[in-house]
Amino acid sequence: MNQTLTHRPAWVEIDLRQLRRNFEIINREKPPGLKIASVVKDDAYGHGAVQVAGIALEYGASCLATVTLNEALELRESNLRAPILLLGERMNNELAACVEHDLSPCISDPGKASLLAQLAIKANKQIRVHVDIDTGMSRYGARWSESLSTISAIANMSGIILEGVMSHFAMSDETDKSFALLQLERFEQVLKMMKIRGIQVSDRHICNTGGFLDLPQAHFDMVRMGILPLGVYPSKVCRRINGLKPIMSVKTRIVVIKELDDGDPVGYGMRYTASEKHRIGVLPVGYGDGYPRVRNKGAVLIHGKRAPIIGGNAMDAMMVDLRNIPRAKTGDEVVLMGEDQTDEISVHEIAALKSTVSYDILAGWRARLPRIYCDN
Ligand SMILES: *Cc1c(COP(=O)(O)O)cnc(C)c1O
Repeated sequence: MNQTLTHRPAWVEIDLRQLRRNFEIINREKPPGLKIASVVKDDAYGHGAVQVAGIALEYGASCLATVTLNEALELRESNLRAPILLLGERMNNELAACVEHDLSPCISDPGKASLLAQLAIKANKQIRVHVDIDTGMSRYGARWSESLSTISAIANMSGIILEGVMSHFAMSDETDKSFALLQLERFEQVLKMMKIRGIQVSDRHICNTGGFLDLPQAHFDMVRMGILPLGVYPSKVCRRINGLKPIMSVKTRIVVIKELDDGDPVGYGMRYTASEKHRIGVLPVGYGDGYPRVRNKGAVLIHGKRAPIIGGNAMDAMMVDLRNIPRAKTGDEVVLMGEDQTDEISVHEIAALKSTVSYDILAGWRARLPRIYCDN
């Protein structure tokens, strides 16, 4: 890696070749005809929304999905003209921008839909919307048992096109699928009533990655996938697909090496004390870069071997024990997350350090770490 490009001896590497391979594998694995909404919210979980979206579309994604208006506008500003689905809830003052930039909001309220319709008519446009149905997560969407009136009201409005109906699973990636199946049943009830009323939509969707992997009976017309193309599984127990690999690694370099004496403390709070003379390495990254705040927990890879983190890490630095790596020297590359020779520090291993999920760690690497894209 060319270090002059990074401006800093700490960076995030994104392997776009592997991203292409991941999409290829997913396309081969999925039922033919099943559409993919590529979810690139939160800068594609820290991987770069524009880069991931571009490749997703190359590999046939039928639309992109973001949560905030700004995320969608960033895609538009990069000349991505594909349909964009806005997940979550819009405030009334965001609707004009949806019309101006041809964004498809999820809507669950006829009043809001009517406001959007008026704006669309004024602009001489047709805006596609998806009705969000709450089937049990109690987050966004119209309650399933009361959603039909909303759906039929929206279906009849001019200025907007009812393109889809959607819901979201509260728990699709765990072994116990009972609540997911209940949500699916509620969603199907709504679809059945729509059919009776003669309301047709082209995109019925309820699956995220967990649902895509484990609930094929819930695929309908489209699945919304964020984490899987990035090569990361939502949980330990969901189905695996051969060949998928993470595309993000986080790396740094040893900037200082020092020799401790027996009894020397290390770091804030003096959480580590040397019990013998030994070497440590100082790494110029910390919780200000998105690494969890830890004390004598976690490890990094140097020369393919594990160097345990000692003491408490700071905002900008952490110290590692070099006793396993006698040949380590200043300037050597260090892997905080990713593979090094035969070992790997996975996103799940880092997530376990602060009892969180992989999503939180991926999206948590800060902008302070430059992103380096590796392609062809
Ligand atoms: C984030 C999100 C997704 C994507 O979830 P993954 O598990 O990353 O595939 C899908 N649908 C909605 C509504 C989301 O908010």
